[in-house]
Amino acid sequence: MSALQAPQQLLDLTKIKWFRKRLLTWHPRNTRSFPWRDSKSPYEILIAEMLLQATSATKVIAVYKTFIERYRSVFSLATAEQNDIERIIRPLGLPNRAHAILNVARLVVDLHAGEIPCEKDELLKLPRVGEYTAGAVLSFGYGVRVGIPDTNVIRLIQRFFNLENPRKSHRGSPSRSIRLAAAKVVPTRNSGGFNYAMLDFGALICTSLHPKCKQCPLSTKCETYMRQNNPR
Ligand code: SF4
Repeated sequence: MSALQAPQQLLDLTKIKWFRKRLLTWHPRNTRSFPWRDSKSPYEILIAEMLLQATSATKVIAVYKTFIERYRSVFSLATAEQNDIERIIRPLGLPNRAHAILNVARLVVDLHAGEIPCEKDELLKLPRVGEYTAGAVLSFGYGVRVGIPDTNVIRLIQRFFNLENPRKSHRGSPSRSIRLAAAKVVPTRNSGGFNYAMLDFGALICTSLHPKCKQCPLSTKCETYMRQNNPR
């Protein structure tokens, strides 16, 4: 039998509740602060996520503030000059991003009367909006209970629940079943806050190369940690 479980076996609600409680206890003292986290505007969340793609959050902080002050709504952005957007986001070193952002703003105005879509399928039709960005807009902007299939989140739940990722695509995105597992652990109340907690935990504790298992508040029930420290 495989040492890993298929995500469908993620049925232990008691364990899920314990996982949620521990994360939400850990998070208030360990929250990473970013200006876009102060916002619940779907527009501002979408802009932040588009700026964050393929660059570091540190670089995005200053650019984001300038961007939102210059373009306070999707309507002002849709009528912007691409050159102006390029000038603002130049520090990110992403030459094609301005065109994509402008394109998204114009589509939202033309097709959605200026409302950022609140349905995942519609969000995914927008250029450069993938599963993660759509999930972030829904979770942080609209308060919808959805999973955020971010690399940090996927890694955390794979390790904690000992899940395999059998159909990881060639583009590196998680399999559908892993995305379902990521959604299942999200509570009904404060789902956005919980997703931020998972993002921060994956970035600060359950890191890719050197997870801080010795100081991890989840270690007593972490399947990967227990397997590695109690080999049969
Ligand atoms: Fe991650 Fe280690 Fe904590 Fe398990 S014990 S969740 S592997 S940091």
